[in-house]
Amino acid sequence: MARVKSILTEAKQIDRAVALIHLGARLQVLESETDLSYERLLRLYKEVSGKSPSKGQLPFSTDWFMTWQPNIHASLFLNIHEYLNKVAELDEIDTVIKAYQLYLEQTQAQGLDPMLSVTRAWRLVKFVDNGMLTMTACSSCGGHFVTHPHEIARHYVCGLCNPPARAGKGKQTGALRIPSERELCRAQAQ
Ligand SMILES: [Zn+2]
Repeated sequence: MARVKSILTEAKQIDRAVALIHLGARLQVLESETDLSYERLLRLYKEVSGKSPSKGQLPFSTDWFMTWQPNIHASLFLNIHEYLNKVAELDEIDTVIKAYQLYLEQTQAQGLDPMLSVTRAWRLVKFVDNGMLTMTACSSCGGHFVTHPHEIARHYVCGLCNPPARAGKGKQTGALRIPSERELCRAQAQ
């Protein structure tokens, strides 16, 4: 019986690894989230993606999540993740996979490039688990955004309500855009 179970467990782990590779996860994520050996993961990675995994360090800093556009993407993902955490009984890594798939659907529906990689999304959840990052409600719109844990909620205003001066003015496709005052006036006039 134990033998059958171990094969099933392994099949589940391979399934997860394949899903993560399809989403573009770094090899370190697979190593951390499965019990499969490095050699097997490497083979699996090459077989599924058709290329060798990229080398180098994982992003370790929380800074990236605090910059304007990434913060909004990270917040979108984390809101989906928190929601799934509450309503679905999934293993931790499966919640990340599912939430990331939904995040991709959302960005696609909005015509945005998905700025948040699955590796960063995974990392973000770890940062939240470790208490290095959290979510704070915006005092203006009430939306929940990724912040440092010591953010004072009463004074916190999110990046959508208070975008940096030059934010969202670019014409770059796939980037977040904040409508200019003229555009807002035009929209109101209609
Ligand atoms: Zn806001």
